[in-house]
Amino acid sequence: MTESTAPQLVTHLRCTGCGACAAGCPKGAIHMLPDREGFLYPTVTDACIRCGHCVHICPVLKQREPRPEPTAFAAWNDDDAVRSRSGAGGVFMLLAEFILDDGGVVFGAALDEQLQVRHICVKSKNELPRLQGAKLVQSQLGDTYSRVRHYLDQGRRVLFSGTPCQVDGLYRYLGEHPEKLLTCDILCSGVPSPGVWEHVLHSMAYIKRKKPQAVQFCAKCKGEKGRRFRVRFEGGGSYDAPLAKSELGLGIKRRLLLRPCCHHCPYMTLDRVGDLSLGDYWGLPKDYRPEEQQKGISLLLVNSVKGAHMFDLLPLKKEKRPLSEAAAANPALSAPVQPPEERSAFFEAFAQQPFQQVRTRFLQPSPIRSKPHWWHKLLGKKER
Ligand SMILES: Cc1cc2nc3c(=O)[nH]c(=O)nc-3n(C[C@H](O)[C@H](O)[C@H](O)COP(=O)(O)OP(=O)(O)OC[C@H]3O[C@@H](n4cnc5c(N)ncnc54)[C@H](O)[C@@H]3O)c2cc1C
Repeated sequence: MTESTAPQLVTHLRCTGCGACAAGCPKGAIHMLPDREGFLYPTVTDACIRCGHCVHICPVLKQREPRPEPTAFAAWNDDDAVRSRSGAGGVFMLLAEFILDDGGVVFGAALDEQLQVRHICVKSKNELPRLQGAKLVQSQLGDTYSRVRHYLDQGRRVLFSGTPCQVDGLYRYLGEHPEKLLTCDILCSGVPSPGVWEHVLHSMAYIKRKKPQAVQFCAKCKGEKGRRFRVRFEGGGSYDAPLAKSELGLGIKRRLLLRPCCHHCPYMTLDRVGDLSLGDYWGLPKDYRPEEQQKGISLLLVNSVKGAHMFDLLPLKKEKRPLSEAAAANPALSAPVQPPEERSAFFEAFAQQPFQQVRTRFLQPSPIRSKPHWWHKLLGKKER
C-alpha cells in the first residue's frame, strides 16, 4: 500500500502497540509486526478498504472523558503463601478468584512455553498462578480483544487486567463499557522490549548451554528489600540474583529498554482507565505496619462505581490512605520518565551488532549512576 492511500494511524513515537486497530479491522488488513527495537507496530496491508475504522478506534488519537479522582487504599491479601508469589500485596489474585467463583473468565499477562509474555484467558483457579507476578516485558495481546468480546457475548463476566494502554485499547475496540466487563489496570512506568527479552533469553541459554524453562522477574525473598530475578533451566541448574544486578534489571534501571511511547505516556496520571488500578504501595511511612510492608502492600485505586462495588465484595485487608501520599511516591501516577541519551545508541547497536556485544557494552554494572526512578524501589538498591 502506498503512503498516500494508507490510513493515517498514530505516529511511531506515540503508538502503544495496543493493537485495537488490528483487532478491529473488518478485513483483517492490519498486522502487528516487530520493528527493529523488537516492539510490535501495526502494518497496513493491501487488503485495506480505507474504511477508517482503525483511525476511529485508536485510543491515542481520541481524548478520553476525564474521571473523578480515585480513592486510594493500602490493601493486601491475608493469604501469606499467595502474597509471597505476587509482585505487591497479592490483591490481583483475590480479584481474579472472585471472578472465577462467579463463573467468569480472567485475562492477564503470562509466560508462554517459549517464555515470551502474552495475554491468556484463565477459566479455572489452578491456571491462575500463571498470571501472578509482574513480567517486565511488553505483553503481546494477539486475539485477546476478540476473545473478550466472545465471552461477553456469551453473557459471562470478564476481568481484563493489563497496562492502562491495553485497557484503553480494549474499550475502544469494544466501543462501549459493557456491564459484565471489569477492568483492572496495573500501575506501569513503561514496558521493556519483547525483542530484547528474546535475546536475553537466548544469551542465557548460550552461556548456560541449557534452555531456560521458568522465569520469575521480581521474586520476593524474605529479609531482602529488593526483588530477585530467577531462571530455572531444563535438566537442572538455575540463575538467581538480585534483579538490580541482572542484565535485564540494569537495562530497565537505565531506561534503555522502554517502548518509545512510554516516555510520553498519557496514562501516567491519576485519571485512570480501569475500574480498579493496582500498584506497589511505595509511599507508606516507615512505621506503618512494618511487618505487612515487608510482605508487600498493594496500592489499590478505586476509579469507578463498578470498581467500588467490586471493592466492597472483596475479602481484602485494607485501609484508606491519602491519594497525595500514593501519588507522590509513584511516577506511574504523575509523569513519564525521559529517555536517556544512550537509548538510541543502545537500539542502534541492538539492530546491527551481535547481542553478546550489546550486553557487554550496555548491560554491565558501571559506576554511572542513573536518576532516581520507580525501578530503584523495585530493584532495592542504588546502581553501581
Ligand atoms: C512493565 C511493568 C511496569 C510496572 N511499573 C510499576 C510502577 O511504575 N509502579 C508500581 O507501583 N508498580 C508497577 N508495576 C507492578 C504492578 O503494578 C504490579 O504487578 C501490580 O501492582 C499487581 O500487583 P499484585 O501483587 O496485586 O499482583 P501480581 O500477581 O504481582 O500481578 C499480576 C497482575 O499483573 C499483570 N501483569 C503482569 N505483567 C504484566 C505485563 N507485562 N503487562 C500487562 N500486565 C501485566 C497481570 O495481568 C496481573 O493482572 C509494574 C509492572 C509491570 C509488569
